[in-house]
Amino acid sequence: MKIVLATGNKGKLREFKKMCETEVVAFSDILGEIDIVEDADTFKGNALIKARTIYDKLEDKEAIVVSDDSGISVPILGGIPGIYSARYAGEGSTDKENLHKLVNSVKEAGVEKTPAYYTAAIAIVSKYGEYVVHGWMHGDVLSTTRGDQGFGYDPMFVPSGYDKTLGELDDELKKSISHRAKALELAKPIIKMLQR
Ligand code: IMP
Repeated sequence: MKIVLATGNKGKLREFKKMCETEVVAFSDILGEIDIVEDADTFKGNALIKARTIYDKLEDKEAIVVSDDSGISVPILGGIPGIYSARYAGEGSTDKENLHKLVNSVKEAGVEKTPAYYTAAIAIVSKYGEYVVHGWMHGDVLSTTRGDQGFGYDPMFVPSGYDKTLGELDDELKKSISHRAKALELAKPIIKMLQR
């Protein structure tokens, strides 16, 4: 029973491969490139859209499809960028453009730092049904950037309990405290159960 990942992201594929005992393949290796419109208004909804779309297109209905959707929310700004994290500075924007737009938004709010959190939703679709789990990482965002580790909004995000940004902290540490790591821990037993 193979696991099909609804992502083209090599890092995510590597993480999943480490976690599963069975074959893990990227959907694009089976179906080629597919344009999926993620137009739900929650992380959960968008993760489900991705996983369902891929499952529906697969010939092998024994496969388990796993997808994820993630982003950062800043309550003082009304929760933005949230589900729009990947395109905060506009359609097709780069991680750097999105990061600088959020730094500017925090500055414009007149604060040097303010609470924020990352969310990851992981959806699992199989012939036995659909499951969604979530993981969160809480902390603060700054009105400046520090360090260049990680990706996306990491150089402006200080996780709770630390005084450095994820741009300054070790990547290995991030793997142990991240929203994605927490959601993956919850996804593992579900995937194992479906494989039996
Ligand atoms: P997606 O889940 O791959 O669509 O990612 C959504 C967007 O959220 C990314 O483009 C990043 O901007 C942001 N994001 C999600 N997780 C992280 C993270 O761990 N660090 C930094 N940015 C993240």
